[in-house]
Amino acid sequence: MDPLHDPEPAADADTIAALATAVGGPIAIIRLSGPGAVATAAALWRGQKPLDQPPYRTLHLGQVATAEGTLDNQVLAVFMPGPHSYTGDDVVELHCHGGALAARRVLLELLQCGCRHAAPGEFTQRAFLNGRLDLTQAEAVADLIAAQSTAALHLANRQLAGVLGRQVNGLYDALATDLADLESRLDFPEEDLDWEAAPAVRERLEQTRASLEQLWASRHQGEVLRDGVRLVLAGPPNVGKSSLLNAILGRDRAIVTELPGTTRDTLEEWAHVRDLPLQLIDTAGLRDDSPDPIEQCGMARSRESLQTAHVVVWVFDATLPYAPQAWPELPTPAAVLLVGNKRDLADRLPAPPPPPAGALLVSALTGAGLELLFDAVERLVWTRPQAGDSAVAVSARHAALLAATLPALQDASERVGTQDWELAAVALRAALADLGRITGRTADPDLLHTIFARFCIGK
Ligand code: GDP
Repeated sequence: MDPLHDPEPAADADTIAALATAVGGPIAIIRLSGPGAVATAAALWRGQKPLDQPPYRTLHLGQVATAEGTLDNQVLAVFMPGPHSYTGDDVVELHCHGGALAARRVLLELLQCGCRHAAPGEFTQRAFLNGRLDLTQAEAVADLIAAQSTAALHLANRQLAGVLGRQVNGLYDALATDLADLESRLDFPEEDLDWEAAPAVRERLEQTRASLEQLWASRHQGEVLRDGVRLVLAGPPNVGKSSLLNAILGRDRAIVTELPGTTRDTLEEWAHVRDLPLQLIDTAGLRDDSPDPIEQCGMARSRESLQTAHVVVWVFDATLPYAPQAWPELPTPAAVLLVGNKRDLADRLPAPPPPPAGALLVSALTGAGLELLFDAVERLVWTRPQAGDSAVAVSARHAALLAATLPALQDASERVGTQDWELAAVALRAALADLGRITGRTADPDLLHTIFARFCIGK
């Protein structure tokens, strides 16, 4: 078994170790976490200060070596005792020389000294299991690493600070109090206690439901910021789609020629426009009469891209009469922007052809009109509920759980209205179970596996 590539499933009493930095960089940080972290590191540590003596949380200079010889003669080591560490366990970090091999050898030696290689996200999973983070904060760690724009970074930082978790937990606590109230009514049906009137209970449930619905409405913003916007450049051959891709990127990425049919495959690149992460997709030009089987394959891919796009920029040549029959054949669920390119040439024509209604005119060559195009993309992306810079934006996972919570809560509220307390309690319990999965108050191993599997090893 290769100890570096076959991590065992999590077991809390284990000490885990992994490289926390990308392989090949100038410095490599090896992380150890668990009850044996300091003893394992101490087995290799040769420094003036022993790692398990104070001062803690201080970098010490030393070497790491085995009986056979030195592995790295200049290492900085730090010991962060639990529970006040990232994972909540004892944590040691060794800052070694980087490169492809050196730190890997140190890690292999540590794995011989009684710890095991960490699974993806296992350090953060331990932080969650030790109560250092709730699940939304743990997810924010992965979002932070994956953030493609400043806005996405801000969102991840706010979530990591616990803004979303606190909101969800507050609403959870309110519902849990209501459930306790419903259950007492069931436990003491004969008692003549001074119960709150049904309409007041219902009103409170409705308020909580409205707050949860507001959170649910932030899912579009969350999706855009986390996953970006898929913007597909499509249109007939030679209208300037590849030139437009290059102009938006600000560099020559796609091949541009005056020969029609050069782009035979879809080409994808990330760009940031007005802090929007855009996944730009340049597609093979669509035409009916290509005899070339490779170009036909490319066109099939173009059509597929149109199906998964958020925004389609349908490019046409502004110097030629617009052929409206070209695009209605292409059903796409995306919002479509009509963009006439080569405006620089069209402007020089004595009688430029009239552009179709709603079209924008741009020039990929001079950059004219690009800002208007960006305005239009921004408007399309944010004209959904809860647009703008709200403090939180839920992810697809949170949205799915909220989508399950909301109808259960609606049901509970209606049952309270008819004073059907028992069924109201059943519905409220179901709502709480789903809501609790957002922050991890109710979490099963499958849920944790799904969340932490998307992390990298060492995080
Ligand atoms: P595609 O097949 O739609 O991707 O088109 P290309 O980007 O390969 O461009 C086709 C031809 O049009 C090339 O010769 C480009 O230099 C030219 N072209 C593209 N955009 C412009 C523009 O805005 N102005 C002018 N004058 N020429 C352009």
